[in-house]
Amino acid sequence: MTATSLQKLRNIGIMAHIDAGKTTTTERILFYTGKVYRIGAVDEGTATMDWMEQEQTRGITITSAATSCTWRDHRINIIDTPGHVDFTAEVERSLRVLDGAVALFCAVGGVEPQSETVWLQADRYRVPRIAFVNKLDRSGADFFGTLQDMRTKLGAPAVAFQIPWGLESELRGVIDLVRNKAVVFDQDSQGLEYEEIDVPEEISVEAERWRERLLEAVSDFDETVLSDYLEGKPVGAKKIREAARRGVLAGRLVPVLCGSALKNVGVQPLLDAVVYFLPSPVEVPPVKLSTEDGEELTLPADPAGTLAALIFKVVTDEHAGKLSYVRVYSGTLKKGAQVMNSITRKKSRITRILEMHANRRTERDSICAGDIAALVGLDRAATGDTLVPPGKPYMLERMQFAEPVISMAVEPKSPAESDRLQEAMIKLAEEDPTFRVALNEDTGQTIISGMGELHLQVMVSRLLKEFRVHARLGKPSVAYRETIEERKRGEGRFVRQSGGRGHYGHVQLVVEPGPRGSGFELIEQVKAEDIPREFLPAVRQGIRDSARTGYLGGYPLTDIVVTVTGGSSHDTDSTEAAFTAAAAMAFKDAVRQASPVLLEPIMELQVISPPEFMGTIISDLNSRRGRVTETDKKPSRMVISSLVPLAELFGYATDLRSLTQGRAAYTLEPACFEVVDAAAVMGSN
Ligand code: GDP
Repeated sequence: MTATSLQKLRNIGIMAHIDAGKTTTTERILFYTGKVYRIGAVDEGTATMDWMEQEQTRGITITSAATSCTWRDHRINIIDTPGHVDFTAEVERSLRVLDGAVALFCAVGGVEPQSETVWLQADRYRVPRIAFVNKLDRSGADFFGTLQDMRTKLGAPAVAFQIPWGLESELRGVIDLVRNKAVVFDQDSQGLEYEEIDVPEEISVEAERWRERLLEAVSDFDETVLSDYLEGKPVGAKKIREAARRGVLAGRLVPVLCGSALKNVGVQPLLDAVVYFLPSPVEVPPVKLSTEDGEELTLPADPAGTLAALIFKVVTDEHAGKLSYVRVYSGTLKKGAQVMNSITRKKSRITRILEMHANRRTERDSICAGDIAALVGLDRAATGDTLVPPGKPYMLERMQFAEPVISMAVEPKSPAESDRLQEAMIKLAEEDPTFRVALNEDTGQTIISGMGELHLQVMVSRLLKEFRVHARLGKPSVAYRETIEERKRGEGRFVRQSGGRGHYGHVQLVVEPGPRGSGFELIEQVKAEDIPREFLPAVRQGIRDSARTGYLGGYPLTDIVVTVTGGSSHDTDSTEAAFTAAAAMAFKDAVRQASPVLLEPIMELQVISPPEFMGTIISDLNSRRGRVTETDKKPSRMVISSLVPLAELFGYATDLRSLTQGRAAYTLEPACFEVVDAAAVMGSN
């Protein structure tokens, strides 16, 4: 792609609360842009994007498949972002690689707690957004209420760029406030054909009022729009769009459109808005890379620049084997070229480059900066790795994933399947960084950990479908962590002199508590004469290995800063193995003295319920060691937000159902880890 065509590229995601209509909207987009010739219906489980069997049976979109289509001479890559909160890692990883997003809302449900979560994630990545209020045809649809919710609940600079013409069963089309036209969609061609007509009399006053607000909002981004508007001169559509584009790119404006994907209303204008308002890869800030030694490099989206690509998703594909989805940020990736994975330092040859369309694919010879494709030939790649030219070990900022909070034992149904189970689990863990596999050495059981019960159930059913391994799941248990509360020194010395060559390693270090949520930090402040540089990777390895099993209950250690301060070596007998062992001993020694404590996962729980159950729900939360953080009362429903230890939430779905006669719903997501009384937990285990 040349620089001009790069400007005609859009990498977008569609973010939505589950059930808002993301799959239906994506289907319509693919239909109108000519990629599929029949509209797939979600309810029949045939939607093109939901290509994994899992998703078809559950009716939810879990993995981020990427698909591309063409609209008005622009190429649009759609990165599928899942809406289910158990899979927020998937949302994070897609947000990382897209340049702009369409936020989809249901006109009946308005802004739901889950839409808030995804919105905040998008804020964090500064993703420019437009919004689409879907399901205007449903009874109870409230476009203006949803718009208001976006402003108040999400704090979004949301401005109506369209308003509905008619509503519910009377939905006729949409009013385009920018062009001051009504748009109607021909139902005989499933909305493929549509036309613009003058704004009908019945709605012209309302449309004028909303157009005024729109002009006022966009005049913030363009002086001439402002002066024309103030002088009462007509302002042309092109000028409005250019001003609005500036606002969207600066994150100060969210144009709000509307329609009904199911009834084929409003999807093409939404595609227009993607082209008009969302950024191309050259309009987003250049990426930053760094080496392990802290050397930094900034690269703009230039096809002729140094290669830098991020692997944002790894999947095992039935036909092609392992597929790595990449976004190229700089340079050009060519078929047959050698690349280096800067995390593993492994070199590989790209054997094939595939442009993906859900379950169909096109071979490409190269992909350049700004673009997205799937690669074949990278054997040891994992999500979050960077691809660079051999000899240039720069890394893109790694993706941050939440720590798993829930664990379950998993057993093969027959002992013969044990090895295949292990192997399949490891593959799944490479694909999904929030899914972990470990062996409990005491019991010999395989323990899997993830973000929620549904997450783990999905993984286990994938075992059967994709790897043909039958497995049984044990009861869920809490994935605890350990940390320390004091700063202490530790020392480890490993000396062996048995026949032949000796082993000598000696490490001194300091451990101290890090801020909650900071994970694990390793600092090296050691002179080369104490520990020669070539042994530092072995020291790091020893500390990291040792941090996997804590002092209290064997849970992983977190929120710790370890500084390697000194040690000594032997001219002939120092070995890597000896330094690894010495570092592990030093670390254990320090942690034991540093007042280790147990941390438990705390969940953010939001219950939505008719108001009459408020008292019952809150007193139940109190009995679960929960803390109510906010209650938001509306005449018809209320939302109770709280922080509750995960340990108290097993079976909550059933309990809530019986407390509220099945009339309440809830969302749950990991919030943080907090100190818990270790004796109480161990006693109950
Ligand atoms: P997703 O979970 O966000 O992917 O949502 P889906 O596209 O699977 O839609 C969820 C349900 O809402 C399905 O039953 C759809 O048929 C229905 N749906 C989607 N869009 C609309 C719409 O515009 N109007 C109405 N009435 N229903 C819709």
